[in-house]
Amino acid sequence: MNSTSFRAVPDRAPLRWIILKIHQRCNLNCSYCYVYNRGDDSWKSRPKQMGNDVIDQVCKLIVEHCARYTIDEFVIELHGGEPMLVGKTRFVEIINRIRTACAPLSIKFLMQTNGTLLDQEWSDILAEHAVAVGISVDGPAEFADQKRFYHNGKGSTNDVLRRLSSVKSHPDRPFTHGCLAVIDPTIPGADMIDWLVENDIMFADLLLPLGNRANPPDGWTGPEPYTKYMLDAFERWWALDGDAPHIRFFEMMIRAHLGYKPELDALGGDLGALCVVETNGAIGISDVISVCGGYSGTDLITIWDTSLDQHVDKLDVDLVQAPCAACKSCPEFTACNGGYLPHRWDGTGFDNTSLYCETLSALSARIREAITSSLPASMIKTKEVAA
Ligand code: SF4
Ligand code: SF4
Repeated sequence: MNSTSFRAVPDRAPLRWIILKIHQRCNLNCSYCYVYNRGDDSWKSRPKQMGNDVIDQVCKLIVEHCARYTIDEFVIELHGGEPMLVGKTRFVEIINRIRTACAPLSIKFLMQTNGTLLDQEWSDILAEHAVAVGISVDGPAEFADQKRFYHNGKGSTNDVLRRLSSVKSHPDRPFTHGCLAVIDPTIPGADMIDWLVENDIMFADLLLPLGNRANPPDGWTGPEPYTKYMLDAFERWWALDGDAPHIRFFEMMIRAHLGYKPELDALGGDLGALCVVETNGAIGISDVISVCGGYSGTDLITIWDTSLDQHVDKLDVDLVQAPCAACKSCPEFTACNGGYLPHRWDGTGFDNTSLYCETLSALSARIREAITSSLPASMIKTKEVAA
């Protein structure tokens, strides 16, 4: 660990986003869950819910941080476990407490939920308090229920889809943050895109399952099924043209090929731009690092001993996320950036290519080709003439 003290002159954009784990438990028990079922038991030693002492201290840090960097808007993502387990009354109390303590800052709230508790009353609360909702749902029930189930083993997908309609049809549409779907390579990628369209899920992301060389995803046989899935999904998505849902992963890769730096953590986005605060006040780089058994950055610093611009140094974020030599010389680096940090862990460090290197490389190359082939022939010809 680095004991570097306060960064007097920041050389990076200041942090503007905190993930608050307001509830540490979940009413689901997904087989791939990085919190409960991937070898990390740190959740057991933390309080079930975030108390006001933690919330008040987080607000104090946000206010100090925003004043220091002249920021007037800050993002708080409410997360779990399952954040809605705090209950409606406590949820409203938390929102109001934060808004009051942080005034006059503009606080933008997001919430990532498994969607199983949503109802009309929740939709009203979320809309009234301007909380944008993202929902985790993995695809057709016959596949997704094998992995996303309640503690009694019952699948959750149809419950979620039924409840999702209450937020989607709400006049104020709190459902603006889209769906996150963990990839199941046994679903043909094109079918997954069709399923999103059929269910009117027009903002989504496809997540490569958490895992790495030291702790591969369940059923891992290598990257090939994921490569096939991604390429298949991309072809269908690209062919849908204007009718396609937004797929963040594809769109970010396209943007990267067009010269924009990817901000997505799954494409090597800067993890120093946000931090996670657990129910006990511990600050982490990202909760998904819990799939990296042996990484020592968990629960080492807290909101009582660290300001929001110190976590990058204290947790050695830049050192940890620095791409490896192979990535830096890779022709797909501009779009891939080494992929997602937890996919790079090998049991001792992160100085590696992604477990999904083959998949990322193939997708990035295909996307470049698709972009190039959609350019007017005159541009291609001009290039040839110029050459
Ligand atoms: S809903 Fe999320 S937090 Fe809950 S068990 Fe599933 S993956 Fe884990
Ligand atoms: S494709 Fe592989 S080698 Fe290239 S940047 Fe991505 S992870 Fe690194």
